[in-house]
Amino acid sequence: MAGRVIILLGPPGAGKGTQARLLEQDFGLIQLSTGDLLRAAVREGTAAGLAAKAVMEAGALVGDDIVLAILRDRMAEPDVAAGVILDGFPRTAVQAQALDRLLAETGQQVDAAISLEVDDAAMVARIAGRHTCAGCGEGYHDDFRRPAVAGVCDRCGGTAFTRRADDRAETVGERLRAYHAQTAPLIAYYDARGCLARVDAMADIAEVRSALARLVGGVPA
Ligand code: AMP
Repeated sequence: MAGRVIILLGPPGAGKGTQARLLEQDFGLIQLSTGDLLRAAVREGTAAGLAAKAVMEAGALVGDDIVLAILRDRMAEPDVAAGVILDGFPRTAVQAQALDRLLAETGQQVDAAISLEVDDAAMVARIAGRHTCAGCGEGYHDDFRRPAVAGVCDRCGGTAFTRRADDRAETVGERLRAYHAQTAPLIAYYDARGCLARVDAMADIAEVRSALARLVGGVPA
């Protein structure tokens, strides 16, 4: 692949998925969410999906081998040549180093890692209200982003919505713990390399979108 490689770092609920979809629209980049890829593998009942299901429901991190195999396959598809926003990957030091090696194969490197900075306490409320259109995947929230017509998706008109199994309050605490123990150290990893930026992600969606657009717009294509 060629094109920019932008990483969104941040705990569950920080808005990585929402903002990655907006960056797709604003810059023509491809959102690459390992969480979405793993959920698809679980639905399809693949070997990787079967291995990942219980781990995801417990709020822990899926093994690096499984995640890296899924990521490598996705990165080999032609559309990612437009450039990618990595949402939820890398999540461990092993994954960050493997990403560096994978990109080096095509003479590339991470262009920017953007840390979405939030308070843990607010994350529990954000996560508890979120749901997705079952038809097109558009994201909504009980308090912060309701469809214009109650119960009808703004984007596709669908009327069925789903909530993630791992968004239950009991699982969210474990996901935040996994973030702080295994993923937050990557902020220093990218900072040391001089490609880290931080964005206040407690601001509303539009403000965070503008801040990200300024940053991504400043990264050479
Ligand atoms: P997400 O949609 O990014 O919140 O991910 C949902 C769940 O999928 C996580 O809680 C993990 O169990 C798993 N997962 C997603 N991405 C990764 C990753 N890069 N490494 C390990 N586990 C992951």
